[in-house]
Amino acid sequence: MTPEKGTISINTENIFPIIKKFLYSDTEIFLRELVSNAVDATQKLNRLVSLGHFKGETGNLNIRISADKDAKTLTISDAGIGMTAEEIKKYINQIAFSGATEFMEKFKEAKDANEIIGRFGLGFYSAFMVADKVEIQTLSYEEGAEPAHWTCDGSTSFEIATGSRTTRGTDVTLYLNADSEEYLEQHRLQEILDKYAKFLPVPVQLGTKTETEPDGTDEEGKPKYKEVEIDNIINKTQPIWIKAPGDLTDEDYLSFYRELYPYSEDPLFWIHLNVDYPFNLTGVLYFPKLKKEFEVPKNKIKLFSRQVFITDEVKDIVPEFLLLLHGVIDSPDIPLNVSRSFLQADSNVKKINSYISRKVADKLSELFKKDRKAYEEKWMDIGVFVKYGSLTDDKFFEKAKEFILLTNTQKESWTLEEYKAKVKDFQTGKDDQLVYLYTANPETQDSFIRAAAKKNYDVLLMDSPLDTHFIHTLEMKLEKIAFKRVDADSPDKLIEKDEPIAAALSDEQQQQLKSIFEKAIGNPTMKVETENLQSDSMPVSITMEEWMRRMKDMSKLGGGMNFYGGMPDTYKVSLNSNHPLMEKILQAGEGHQTEMAKQVYDLALLAQGMLKGADLSAFVERTMKHVS
Ligand code: ADP
Repeated sequence: MTPEKGTISINTENIFPIIKKFLYSDTEIFLRELVSNAVDATQKLNRLVSLGHFKGETGNLNIRISADKDAKTLTISDAGIGMTAEEIKKYINQIAFSGATEFMEKFKEAKDANEIIGRFGLGFYSAFMVADKVEIQTLSYEEGAEPAHWTCDGSTSFEIATGSRTTRGTDVTLYLNADSEEYLEQHRLQEILDKYAKFLPVPVQLGTKTETEPDGTDEEGKPKYKEVEIDNIINKTQPIWIKAPGDLTDEDYLSFYRELYPYSEDPLFWIHLNVDYPFNLTGVLYFPKLKKEFEVPKNKIKLFSRQVFITDEVKDIVPEFLLLLHGVIDSPDIPLNVSRSFLQADSNVKKINSYISRKVADKLSELFKKDRKAYEEKWMDIGVFVKYGSLTDDKFFEKAKEFILLTNTQKESWTLEEYKAKVKDFQTGKDDQLVYLYTANPETQDSFIRAAAKKNYDVLLMDSPLDTHFIHTLEMKLEKIAFKRVDADSPDKLIEKDEPIAAALSDEQQQQLKSIFEKAIGNPTMKVETENLQSDSMPVSITMEEWMRRMKDMSKLGGGMNFYGGMPDTYKVSLNSNHPLMEKILQAGEGHQTEMAKQVYDLALLAQGMLKGADLSAFVERTMKHVS
């Protein structure tokens, strides 16, 4: 063919400096783009073979990436369908976007290279982020095709001439610029390919790795060595998500997991996702063992598009509560490289979101129904997802209602329905409201838990940071149910019933008692009150009102209620005026009264782990005196 020169048809003088400048941050993705093109070209050939349109030898179809340190070039070679000179003109020269003006307009908002490259179909041109000059040597699969050679130095002009390639396929050679010499290094290339190309459907081979091997002995009997080439295929692991679940064993899923997350414990179970209508999505999501919830690193789900790794930032595609899962999602229907707000508004993404959430709910429901005992055993880990999901996703909660478990201090688990039936008789208060009692810390709240048990109350264990929010959600969703921490009031008052208890002391005596304690305590944030409780209940209990404690918990979790967070802790000191001890205190001499009150009060503090520092020392000393 006659050599030809021309101008790449975009309406701006020189687009490459712009590409280079704005795309600088993320230059490594040029390799993803070029390897993807090579994969596409190879897949197209495979399709022609299977359709019977190509009858020749396909030969070795590996994609090869090789660096030449002396020449400072990097070459991506494939044995795909290749291109004719006409095709180069059509596909390469006419950059697939409507015009430079639009580009100039849009790139202003673009935050990274991904965004521009995807949006404007600049795949091939991303090469100019790292290269001063790019060359294509290609030979089309078509019979009688002539090899073509294209060069472009990063300006808008190109040259096209007869090429030198003798076998079908394409070599794209980059003359790396001074800032990009890292891409000559084997380890750097390995790193990038491991990231993006690990699951591509066509073997990708990095360089020609050599190894020294013994090679007999020389004349003097000394061992000889030779350099042998070893193949260094990047994508040896099968992407199991593209297979049919029926063809896979548990071991397949587990070994794939270990491949993806080599340092993690085996997962609890997994879900194979597979839809093709109304959107196309495949993937495998694993439920990891969480242990210390919230310390699990997020960003463990990898997003692929047709087996090309795209990102591990999937927070806009996957429902928030499922970000704790691990695994892969592959969908060509997720618009890549677009801004977050666009992604969130995209209808496919919305559908994908609810599909995944539904699948997860179905899986949990299945596990629960199939083997309740196993499910209960895993609840420590599963609970985090279920609670988090219930908080953030109404539809999920509707399904989760059936398999949410409440666990009590005896380590028994109940579904919501079962629990209601269990506590109904003893824990229904005024206005028919059911009161569910819980503890956040069985150690420090032990005296209250015991007191509750005496009244036949059950106490739930709610000791994870999520529980504060979860309780709130349950109260909103379930009718006529209120949660109260077991130390939110004196045990007799926790569940208010219309059965007043007779008072053993007169109003005047109660007033006197209150003053004695106020004086002994000497702390205005401790609000002293007398109450007519059962005579065998605790003489003094120190409680914080449910609402006040919740506000404080919320502000600790960063719930934005700093007003409450900054407030001093106010507690109620409730004196059981019916307890025989109270009468003794009233009858004691004046000096002795204060000491007795102080002692009983300190005991109440002690019972809750609230007696500390100097107060604790003073208490010990005072008590020692009495004993000795
Ligand atoms: P996209 O891949 O998104 O279409 P590119 O700019 O990366 O955009 O590539 C433009 C076109 O050039 C491709 O669609 C393909 O037709 C052709 N092409 C690029 N690389 C190769 C290759 N290695 N072999 C054959 N054709 C290629």
